[in-house]
Amino acid sequence: MKPFDGAPPRRPIRRLDDATISRIAAGEVVERPASAVKELVENAVDAGATRIDVRLEGGGLERIEVADDGVGIPPEELELAVARHATSKLDGSDPAEGVTTLGFRGEALASIAAVARFRLLSRAEGREIGSGISVVGGTLAGRFDAPRAPGTTVEVQELFFATPARRKFLKAPAAEQAAVVDVLDALYLATPSVALSLTAEGREVFRYPASGRLRDAAGRVLGPAFLADAFLVDAPLPPSGRLRGVLGRPTQHRPNGSGLYLAINGRSIRSRPILQAVRLAFQDHLPRTRFPVGLLHLELPTERVDVNVHPTKTEVRIARDREVLDAVRVEVRRALQSGPGVAEAPFPVALREFPEAGTPEAIRPFSLAAGPALHDAAVGAQTTLDVGSAFVAVAAGAHRPALRLVGSLFDLYWIADAGTDLWILDQHAASERLLFDRLRATGRIGRQELVVPRTVELTARQDAAEDSQDHEQHTGSLEHAQADGRAAEQRLGRVAGRAVHRIALLRLHLED
Ligand code: ADP
Ligand code: MG
Repeated sequence: MKPFDGAPPRRPIRRLDDATISRIAAGEVVERPASAVKELVENAVDAGATRIDVRLEGGGLERIEVADDGVGIPPEELELAVARHATSKLDGSDPAEGVTTLGFRGEALASIAAVARFRLLSRAEGREIGSGISVVGGTLAGRFDAPRAPGTTVEVQELFFATPARRKFLKAPAAEQAAVVDVLDALYLATPSVALSLTAEGREVFRYPASGRLRDAAGRVLGPAFLADAFLVDAPLPPSGRLRGVLGRPTQHRPNGSGLYLAINGRSIRSRPILQAVRLAFQDHLPRTRFPVGLLHLELPTERVDVNVHPTKTEVRIARDREVLDAVRVEVRRALQSGPGVAEAPFPVALREFPEAGTPEAIRPFSLAAGPALHDAAVGAQTTLDVGSAFVAVAAGAHRPALRLVGSLFDLYWIADAGTDLWILDQHAASERLLFDRLRATGRIGRQELVVPRTVELTARQDAAEDSQDHEQHTGSLEHAQADGRAAEQRLGRVAGRAVHRIALLRLHLED
């Protein structure tokens, strides 16, 4: 699973020559706490760590700490580690060819140390004690020794303290923390063989175990519900690569590509062409506006993957990508259709969605006074809702025909006659949308304490969102997260007299 198995032992850090420097994609790598965390965790993975622990204060704006059990840095190389264009990872080779480490630019530590109060403590192999340096705003401020298990700890305090202009563009701590969670989720899913934990304000946000199975790792990040309705992909990629992963069945989808985690050779990447290939594989099974969810690992010969495209290394270029993309599409589709419940024909799995955008005036709500009840997602009870407004809330469509309700199917869907079209509406989604819009319109909601706290399962992303101020303000509150993604719920929010303890999760579901 680790991309670097068989990599040679650690090489000394050295400065790159000018010719190599000029060939490296230039640009800013540290824009916010999440980008610093990404670089630091990648360094730990490159150092062969088996576990990495990240700690944040103030969403990473006050303090970031990344500790690993990797090979460490010898004391005489500490200063070089924070020097610009100094790396142990490029061996005079062209960065465009065959990079087998996540880093190679030799710039991350220098960039971070230049804009923060920075400490690097490391105990290299064969040393008795840890040695450290502190750097303030890019200037060496001190050396120290301290006991430490083998490995490295990087501490970043007051990121951008010297550049107030940059600080201005940062978001609130909760939003920065959510961005860190996103980055760490992606990194873990790219190299799940390395255990990864996040602690924020002294409270554990998640602890992902080292895992040899993509399926288990995906379950950790995407939640058990994801695995319950997912299928595996394992197929060759021409000429000598492999495609492996786990994807949600068409019942699971998102409004954008953020739920599809991609990795090439253990590197977390974003790739429109690959995303597009996966979407094509789901064609006929997902509405056009929705995106698949899951994790895909591509293993390709390193010389076919150019990682020197973008300074943050999140985009790569694949040589002769056409055959790879075609294979991804074909193999994902094959895997999808070989499982149960997905026929070639779109009906009944694909739910037709309301088209995007349009004017509210065009809406002609239908009334459903005596019709079937909407399933109330928030409280798990049957409640009759005003369907006219539910329809308005759900249908953000350009063409909103008058709908005539024909019936309901499996207690899940409404079937409606729209003139020349048949519409199938997901009652559950409509109900969630209605609740969500009402909540948003109200702005603020009341609260009610619970006598006995209830336990709810949260993924790390949800948990991070629970912490946001926005959430405090607009919803009831889930308090006191416990280990392993559970939170004890101590208060309920109330909207229009109804309990809405899951509203924050709904919001994530609708907006993520
Ligand atoms: P790069 O990763 O591109 O080489 P960095 O600035 O991120 O550049 O790191 C510079 C060097 O410091 C690395 O090449 C590596 O030798 C060393 N280093 C950084 N972080 C660690 C770590 N956690 N463990 C061991 N060595 C590290
Ligand atoms: Mg690096």
